[in-house]
Amino acid sequence: MKKDNNSHHIVIVGGGTAGWLSAAFLSSQLKNRFQKNVNITLVEASDIATIGVGEATIPSLRQTLNACGLDEREFLKACDATFKHGIEFIQWRETPAIALAESYFHPFGDLVSVEGHNPAHQWSKLGKDQREDFADLFSVQPEIAKLGRAPKHTNDRPYDGALAYAYHLDAGKLVEFLKAKFRDVSVAQIIGKVVGALTSENGNFTSIQLDDERSIEGDFFIDCTGFAARLINADQENEFIDKSSTLFVNRAVTTRIPVEDRRDIIGYTKCTAQTAGWIWDIALQTRRGIGHVFSTRHMNDDDAVQCLANYSGKPIEDLDVRFLDMKTGYHAHQWRKNCVAVGLSSGFLEPLESTGIYLIEMANWALLDMLPRFFSGAQPQERYNEAMRLHYENIVDFLKLHYCLSKRDDGDFWTENREPQTIPETLKQKLHQWQNSVPSVYDFDRRIQCFSETNYQYVLYGMGWAGHDRAQPLNNDIQQMLDALAVRRERLRQFVLRDTQANIDFY
Ligand SMILES: Cc1cc2nc3c(=O)[nH]c(=O)nc-3n(C[C@H](O)[C@H](O)[C@H](O)COP(=O)(O)OP(=O)(O)OC[C@H]3O[C@@H](n4cnc5c(N)ncnc54)[C@H](O)[C@@H]3O)c2cc1C
Repeated sequence: MKKDNNSHHIVIVGGGTAGWLSAAFLSSQLKNRFQKNVNITLVEASDIATIGVGEATIPSLRQTLNACGLDEREFLKACDATFKHGIEFIQWRETPAIALAESYFHPFGDLVSVEGHNPAHQWSKLGKDQREDFADLFSVQPEIAKLGRAPKHTNDRPYDGALAYAYHLDAGKLVEFLKAKFRDVSVAQIIGKVVGALTSENGNFTSIQLDDERSIEGDFFIDCTGFAARLINADQENEFIDKSSTLFVNRAVTTRIPVEDRRDIIGYTKCTAQTAGWIWDIALQTRRGIGHVFSTRHMNDDDAVQCLANYSGKPIEDLDVRFLDMKTGYHAHQWRKNCVAVGLSSGFLEPLESTGIYLIEMANWALLDMLPRFFSGAQPQERYNEAMRLHYENIVDFLKLHYCLSKRDDGDFWTENREPQTIPETLKQKLHQWQNSVPSVYDFDRRIQCFSETNYQYVLYGMGWAGHDRAQPLNNDIQQMLDALAVRRERLRQFVLRDTQANIDFY
């Protein structure tokens, strides 16, 4: 295929979630900026399967889908999608023998605050006997989620809600939905396997070569080839920032179970800690996706499948299981010359906080800002790489927080997770600081960081963090504060419950 000299030609390689979401987003957004003078071609191999997982998301996806011009109800139906209020973490604090089925909630919504104060200050004033559950006290969302109510009022606009929310979705169906909307409309699809690429003297890719000897020229290339990282690491010289000594899980075994009773469709992800990892449980409209991510240094495949069977309540023989290997970390150079990696080709962090698709979105929003400048001759690669580095490192810290605060002692996996050399310095500094204070808005750069003080508070206090015991209270009247909080909380609760339907009425 020959390049039209008057237009910019973007070639995306890979037809998984990263490839099609990038194609959908960039074709919707860039065409406006370039007065349609941008062409997008997506090349995908028919004989290399997509990873087929990636079912839990975070609220940013609403904005991204909206920017693609997609109808929310149509999306929910086509992708077997359900609403997600947040995540329930089960048995993370202590070994189950000590505390059976203890759990805490990490909701998406903001905390209810009194007179604009940081709720963590108020939490720190409560005596130990007054502290029941941080999320239940400062948020209405765990209750709404467990009631099976939707985060939206019936008359809320698409992608808008009474509470912050995300989705659970079928990854394969999302790809099919995006293809149906964008293929041949604003994205040209080519089926073929990329086996090589040609570069110009300055190192830019000029074309990619397919196994049937076709050649596709382009101005800019987006590598969405998954773990293969076929373009971004074509020379095998792109440094990989390995995070496996901090985050140990490196293999997953997954299965699917049909939903027999629609009342079982819960509006939040369940993450249950195991001896050497954890199990996700995600309810879609017609089936549940369950997966055990574990560390092969601490557990073998047979035991990992047994954990999955125990969790699901089904005999191993009845489970249709699939294994996946993961490499934890990210490429130092996510954008090199005229090629950027998006999705698993850029890196992978375990899905404990559902950040895979989020990273795809962040890459695309950054490209939307930087690609026009690149086409005008600027070289924004370093700024882009630094932004993505910050995204990855912020997520690494937050994921590790879940592990290093655990008091579980049912295996080396958990004790090693608390060893200081496995904890990033940036996280150590935060935890040290919060020995005498509480997570505050000033501890984070919200422009780039997915997880900030609210998220840290949910997890820290959910995990039983007691550092705040030495924090300085802001005001002395605890009862007054609790009363004011109860009033505000109830007002919000009534507002949310008014007119919200059951989750399942939306599907
Ligand atoms: C166990 C696990 C659980 C996860 N859970 C979540 C989750 O809950 N939430 C979340 O947000 N994310 C999750 N993720 C991450 C999520 O799955 C990925 O971010 C997302 O699916 C994007 O994948 P991808 O498109 O980059 O890669 P893939 O799905 O692997 O797609 C790669 C594409 O590239 C094509 N390809 C490869 N080589 C070539 C070639 N040489 N020529 C042409 N085409 C080629 C393939 O055919 C395929 O179409 C999870 C990941 C794993 C491993």
